[in-house]
Amino acid sequence: MTNNVQIVDHPLIRHKLAILRDKNTSTNEFRDLLREVSLLMGYELLRDLPTEEVEIETPLEKTKAQMLAGKKLCIVSILRAGNGFLDGLLELVPSARVGHIGLYRDPETLIAVEYYLKFPDDLETRQVIIVDPMLATGHSAVAAIDRVKDQDATDIKFLCLVASPEGIATVQDAHPDVQIYTAAIDRELNDHGYILPGIGDAGDRIFGTK
Ligand code: URA
Repeated sequence: MTNNVQIVDHPLIRHKLAILRDKNTSTNEFRDLLREVSLLMGYELLRDLPTEEVEIETPLEKTKAQMLAGKKLCIVSILRAGNGFLDGLLELVPSARVGHIGLYRDPETLIAVEYYLKFPDDLETRQVIIVDPMLATGHSAVAAIDRVKDQDATDIKFLCLVASPEGIATVQDAHPDVQIYTAAIDRELNDHGYILPGIGDAGDRIFGTK
């Protein structure tokens, strides 16, 4: 089951995730922690970015050094909770482009319904990183991956904070080529499609809407 799933495990991430799970953590702290976790997870996620040799001059002499080879990135945020991951990733790769996909869950069927879409128009040339803190039923993730594949993207990763076993299975069935990065795989989904033990509603906790 862990095929194509990478658990980004680090003491700092474990610690910050524990605070994020705590219902008493304030909106302000929650947002800051999510940004910090996105920096730590992004470090791992971007490990395979190619670098190239460049010549530079230190204050003492000329030397060769490695810099990013210009692999173009697009971060696709699944609205609205995906935006909680955006600032940290853009700090790491300021030149990345950003796409947004608005999906809400039909409360009866839990199916993802699209209400907004804006992508850069050259996704086929970019590595695409789709971000959503919660991989719950997997329906939003699959819908977002479908849409970036409609634009001929082929190099796609999915980054979340917490995943459910059901969500992972759904994404792996539909898109076995997409690598999933998560800080934790939780126990299960409840009847409303929320992850247990989870962190609650990520959007509400980021934006203080409840
Ligand atoms: N979305 C959330 O914000 N939380 C969950 O537990 C599941 C989906």
